[in-house]
Amino acid sequence: MGTYAFFKGKFVPLEEAKIGIITHAFNYGTACFEGIRANWNKEQEKFYVFRIREHLERLEQSCRILKIKLPHSVAEMEKLVVQLVERCGYREDVYVRPMGYKSSEIVGVKLHGLEDDFLLFVVPFGPYLDVEKGARCCISSWRRIDDNMIPPRGKITGLYVNSALAKTEANENGFDEAIMLNSDGHVSEGSGENIFVVKDGALLTPPPTDNILLGITRATIMELARTEFGIDTVERCIDRSELYLAEEVFMTGTAAHVTPVVEIDRRPVGKGGVGPITHKLQKLYFDVIFGRSRKHLSWSTVISPRLVKV
Ligand code: PMP
Repeated sequence: MGTYAFFKGKFVPLEEAKIGIITHAFNYGTACFEGIRANWNKEQEKFYVFRIREHLERLEQSCRILKIKLPHSVAEMEKLVVQLVERCGYREDVYVRPMGYKSSEIVGVKLHGLEDDFLLFVVPFGPYLDVEKGARCCISSWRRIDDNMIPPRGKITGLYVNSALAKTEANENGFDEAIMLNSDGHVSEGSGENIFVVKDGALLTPPPTDNILLGITRATIMELARTEFGIDTVERCIDRSELYLAEEVFMTGTAAHVTPVVEIDRRPVGKGGVGPITHKLQKLYFDVIFGRSRKHLSWSTVISPRLVKV
């Protein structure tokens, strides 16, 4: 099956979407991106694309930090995402990657006076971490980069070197995922996930000022916990040792969904299995993102893939 990209203002076969080697974004990490899941509901043979608008609004905000002028409005980008998913004709979970980038082919480290462009591609994308067994994590020796270095509030490609260093260190040391502390020593986030702690039956999560990406899954879980289970979330600084003593810990992200954390630094979290609060939030979250919760359908954009390729 051939697949398509949206590149330089039009839909093209993926293999034709190529950037030149002098492109600014490739040389200096000057691009902002998003990851949006289109979840394939097998019974209905439809995609449920989760919170597309919020992702594209965050893309706009990330781009403001990097002085990237997107050539399309959020509403236009939303239509382009839908058209691309329809056109690609996949029938499995896919991940859509929108990107705004410094497209000038020019040498020189700066943000101003450059051309910008926007692209989209789609890849099949199954589970990222083991959502059933849970993840074994370590505290990374890499610190989360600070807002005054590269703002983690933006989803900026260059920033992901920080995440990649942490992820590879964790994997090569036999762990599934890294948990990064910020430069103050407080818990920040995973390499591509936000983190939650269950303490005395309530949820704790690091505040926006602890160098986290303001996750859309994080916001979704906070809302579902409050409205469906009456569980409040407190946003406050979290110490490393609070992770060791937590009743439950889980990570959230578009890729990671709700992944239980069952071990941290070779210490079992709580009783070492998937905790009851994590379990019920995860179950509800899957119902929501696959369009099985009628009450939450407004969060999804429904797409029926074309049977005949265009
Ligand atoms: N933190 C980082 C560093 C991430 O890359 C991601 C994935 N986008 C998240 C948190 C989770 O964000 P979201 O729930 O919006 O996918």
